Amino acid sequence: MTPTLTPEIAAPAATPAGQRALMHVTHRPDAVFTQGRGSWLWDSQGRRYLDLVQGWAVNTLGHASPVVTAALAGQAARLVQPGPGLYNDRALALADRLAQLSGLQRVYFTASGAEANEGAIKLARKFGQVHRGGAHEIVTFENAFHGRTLAAMSASGKPGFDRLFEPKVPGFPKARLNDLASVAARVHAGTVAVMLEPVQGEAGVIEATPEFLRGLRRMCSELGLLLIYDEVQTGVGRTGTLWGWQASGAAPDVMTLGKCLGGGVPIAALLARDEVACFTPGDQGGTYHGNALMCAVAHAVLDTVAEPAFLQRVQDRGAQLCHGLAQIAQAIGSPPPFGRGLLLALQLPRPLQAEQVAAALLERAAAGRDGAIVNAVRPERLRFVPALTIEEDEVDLLLAMLREALGLG
Ligand SMILES: *Cc1c(COP(=O)(O)O)cnc(C)c1O
Repeated sequence: MTPTLTPEIAAPAATPAGQRALMHVTHRPDAVFTQGRGSWLWDSQGRRYLDLVQGWAVNTLGHASPVVTAALAGQAARLVQPGPGLYNDRALALADRLAQLSGLQRVYFTASGAEANEGAIKLARKFGQVHRGGAHEIVTFENAFHGRTLAAMSASGKPGFDRLFEPKVPGFPKARLNDLASVAARVHAGTVAVMLEPVQGEAGVIEATPEFLRGLRRMCSELGLLLIYDEVQTGVGRTGTLWGWQASGAAPDVMTLGKCLGGGVPIAALLARDEVACFTPGDQGGTYHGNALMCAVAHAVLDTVAEPAFLQRVQDRGAQLCHGLAQIAQAIGSPPPFGRGLLLALQLPRPLQAEQVAAALLERAAAGRDGAIVNAVRPERLRFVPALTIEEDEVDLLLAMLREALGLG
């Protein structure tokens, strides 16, 4: 459980001026992180932290995974990017693998989840032009999060986003999650699609119920609407199944992936059923899209995660963490934990308590103990998105640290 540090490599060191030079777009703790291994991160003072954020749920196999390192090193020495106008063997292999595993026959690669969603929105609008007489509205949801490009922000229902960077991209009426009637009320002749996250991650880990997803599937099939799942956070094993929608059996027409797909490197994907994939040459592109280096890594990650034994381990660790969180929730008078697999959240009784607990876990490291990095996804809610490879004793350690931070002895 105690991994060893890798030897220092020859590279530029952090400078104090760097902190001023980086644009201040988020509040960051003062520690400067220099290396990681599995579920652990080290800062420049050699202090150690159990990492339950993992780069916003991207380090599928943990920090410095040998799987990712080998794929990166091997591919970097062979071919990085011949360009999106040429086929490369790694993109073809990954597209084929994703199509087989998802049942969605057509794939487009991007460098981020927001771009994949941007592509899904464009594809739906094109589908509306070609097949639905110009229908272009996409029903999305309150508290949804689809990324930070302007159209993805417009599709999002994140509180606070509504006032930023006006005017927004029009055409995204908002319905309420798990309320089929609220969706039906926003559908008309100009509607082409419904888009949602099977589990709303940024909203605080709110699950769409299986009945709701099945109801949406029926409604979309009856009305000829596209059902689009944003699986950027839920996809590739995070919820204990390969895709988050599998718990409901309600399959999508279009799905986006990101985060876990790359195991930490920037790659995301837009997948669609054959009949829906109506882009023609000139419609979509991007300089880094489908580059061989990222595709090689994603293929290695996907091969690892798609193993039934691996997914079983995710379910086992998820059940262990959920059980421990449920005991804590009961002790502090909170509702049971939210989410499933290794996408879980704990409600705390007092507003702002989540930020306080997250800060306390971080500060343990300054006192010479193991610290932890957890995400206060809302002022009163902690979110846990560990590496899918987190060990049993690491889950126990997190639970012990949480109990201590909450004064549960
Ligand atoms: C993180 C996330 C995005 C945005 O992905 P980026 O890679 O940050 O652009 C979109 N949708 C969901 C559900 C996400 O969790």
